[in-house]
Amino acid sequence: MRRPIIAGNWKMHNTTEKARELVELLKPLVGASDVEVVVCPPFTAIAATVNAAAGSNISVGAQDLFWEDWGAYTGEVSGPMLKDLGCRYVIIGHSERRQYFGETDATVNKKLHAALRHDLVPIVCVGETLDEREAGKTLEVVRRQVEDGLKGLAPDQVETLVVAYEPVWAIGTGRTATAADAQEVIAFIRDTLKAMYGERVGATRIQYGGSVKPENIAELMAQPDIDGALVGGASLDAISFAAIVNYKEHQHK
Ligand code: PEP
Repeated sequence: MRRPIIAGNWKMHNTTEKARELVELLKPLVGASDVEVVVCPPFTAIAATVNAAAGSNISVGAQDLFWEDWGAYTGEVSGPMLKDLGCRYVIIGHSERRQYFGETDATVNKKLHAALRHDLVPIVCVGETLDEREAGKTLEVVRRQVEDGLKGLAPDQVETLVVAYEPVWAIGTGRTATAADAQEVIAFIRDTLKAMYGERVGATRIQYGGSVKPENIAELMAQPDIDGALVGGASLDAISFAAIVNYKEHQHK
């Protein structure tokens, strides 16, 4: 019922030339996959990436957007601009944006509405810090992020968006949540969404993110509520990212 979705967040990496090279390497490696494959380059490499990915099963996303469509907002990029470039997805509320650029659940909510207004599929990130986890506040924090970040949407919008559960302490640290811990929080996110929007949002896809690698993807994907992954570091290497996308080849059923 929920098609797996694996997205690569390139963060502030790759020039246009490198982006093109990476997509050219990826295309034959992931071409046979029935998983939805997404790469999210920096704004400057989106056009080159869309061009290189044309005709393949790789979709392109942005890493952020602003909530207004046009105007005097120096340095910002809007939904219509991303659509114009050929983006289909957009990451919203990544923990690095919350940590370094002052994003809050309120700004996440505005961005989410803007993305949906322009027919972009949001990948909304939530997740607790190490302090919050150690204080036993994981579920409380994630519930607040989901309730405040995703409020005011229509159920059919919630069905189309993607949530990424990314414990902050697992991002870029090499430290992955255990598959059981990730499953527990992701099932809780699904229940929170259902409490807000009704049973039909059982179709919403929820990814895990945080040091996903070829070695741990199969175990994560074997969990009943994990529908995919948001991959940072390992998405910069075609072989690693393709091995993650092709996780079924290593899964023992
Ligand atoms: C991310 O940037 O969303 C991420 C999960 O990074 P990494 O895979 O490097 O931990």
